Amino acid sequence: MKVPLLDVKAQNAPLRGALLEAMTRVMDSGGFILGPEVEAFEKELAAALGVSRAIGVSSGTDALLVALMALGVGQGDEVVTTPLSFFATVGCIARLGARPVFADIEPESFNLDPAAAAAACGAKTRALIPVHLFGRPAALPKVNLPVVEDAAQSIGACKLYGIMSCLSFFPSKNLGAFGDGGAVLCDDAQMADKVVLLRAHGSRPKYVHRAVGGNFRLDALQAAILRVKLPQLAGWTAGRRANAERYRRLFAATPGIPPELHLPEDVPGHIYNQFVIRAPRRDGLRDHLSKQGIGSEVYYPLALHLQPCFAGLGYRAGAFPHAEAATREALALPIFAELTEEQQAFVVTQIAGYYR
Ligand SMILES: *Cc1c(COP(=O)(O)O)cnc(C)c1O
Repeated sequence: MKVPLLDVKAQNAPLRGALLEAMTRVMDSGGFILGPEVEAFEKELAAALGVSRAIGVSSGTDALLVALMALGVGQGDEVVTTPLSFFATVGCIARLGARPVFADIEPESFNLDPAAAAAACGAKTRALIPVHLFGRPAALPKVNLPVVEDAAQSIGACKLYGIMSCLSFFPSKNLGAFGDGGAVLCDDAQMADKVVLLRAHGSRPKYVHRAVGGNFRLDALQAAILRVKLPQLAGWTAGRRANAERYRRLFAATPGIPPELHLPEDVPGHIYNQFVIRAPRRDGLRDHLSKQGIGSEVYYPLALHLQPCFAGLGYRAGAFPHAEAATREALALPIFAELTEEQQAFVVTQIAGYYR
């Protein structure tokens, strides 16, 4: 039996006809960037997520970048965030000339510790970026500063609570495009307008540039594909949640699982973009699963404060013990909606077999 970490082909197969029709519609329209297809997707996405504005952009990375640009983050500013995330969370801060300031995670949730984040804020702090990592809602830091949510892995997991929330439609996210795409969610009309302006080189009207923005536009083709997939999202999320529940039952019923192996807590709102366990002898377990044809992944093997490009920030190993422990212990197991009970039982049996 083979169990891939993710099977996007299984998700697309039942939608083949509708997807081809959407792609053909875009081809026949001759309009490929922004336009009516993107506008319709933005309206449908905003309605589905209960926000006043959703602004389609070129990627999750660019959603974060343009959100910080809209806040005016730049040289001399600090932005507080987590050391355990995908690189884009912190890359956007550094690209604007601002300084990333890290605070440790909560060991149980893998998310930025709200108290530690608040304590890391100072006079130069311009914003905070909590990440709803793996699809689990992060707690809101109690600070009087703008919060930009990195919701790349957590579409629909929680209400918008920051000034902006950033989504990714990278193919492995819960709502995946056929390439790169992202969105900025916003309830503040003025801020939304700034994002729209910056998304197309700050141009208004055409060839008059009111601000220095970038090319952060979403393709019509991606929007058309996402419009086909969006109505399925709730069902896919329910499938992921049901699979998480099934793992809990299977792990509990299988002898040989060591007590130090921890499953993710079942919390309201968790949409399980990843089902991440903490496992003793993690790397050995991963090799074993790989030999049995089971996909798994380490998110993330190196904490952000220890990345070579940030050596100049002066952080040392040991600075954030909870995040660093996660880089040694965390392992993502297959959780996609189309996974079968047999496949999950095989995964759990093989994990028990490794420890026995
Ligand atoms: C995927 C991801 C991003 C970046 O999204 P892209 O669309 O790949 O640019 C940012 N932050 C987190 C936490 C992510 O998982």
